[in-house]
Amino acid sequence: GEWNEVDLNPGIESSINIIKGYARKKGVKVAMDLGAMPAIRCRAARIHQVIVNLLTNAIDACGEQGEVQVRTRSEPEALGIRIDVSDNGCGMDPETRDHIFDPFFTTKPIGQGTGLGLSISYGIIEEHDGSIEVQSTAGGGSCFTVHLPLEPRRK
Ligand code: ADP
Ligand code: MG
Repeated sequence: GEWNEVDLNPGIESSINIIKGYARKKGVKVAMDLGAMPAIRCRAARIHQVIVNLLTNAIDACGEQGEVQVRTRSEPEALGIRIDVSDNGCGMDPETRDHIFDPFFTTKPIGQGTGLGLSISYGIIEEHDGSIEVQSTAGGGSCFTVHLPLEPRRK
């Protein structure tokens, strides 16, 4: 993937549309709140892969009345942007949360999860000099937050 100056919002909207059929099948609503953002220097296809991974997990975490939201914002004071993917699903206990970025860690039944989505996503955000964090409580839903700088140091 090439490094380019990209406004991520249109691709995030496409990622949401890609995932909508899966969400509908599970009875989960997907909402978006995309704020105006500056273009950032990134490998856009990889960032969109991260969004699809986070959305898939969020939908998987939801049961009946599931709601997932994607929110994007410019963060001028941090010279970057922020993407939040939140859900009102099962959430995580602290023991689970401590391992979600480990390769092959999954709580899903055999054949349903590889446990690679978040470890790959972590690596992608790291190569962009960004950060990925989660806030979650068991039964209280989850929110994954990605911060990305306008210009990674290395590229
Ligand atoms: P997989 O989806 O194949 O299990 P991931 O690396 O994408 O692998 O996620 C690892 C684990 O993190 C999941 O199995 C699940 O336990 C937990 N997880 C990730 N996202 C969420 C979420 N939104 N809500 C609750 N648990 C989550
Ligand atoms: Mg996953």
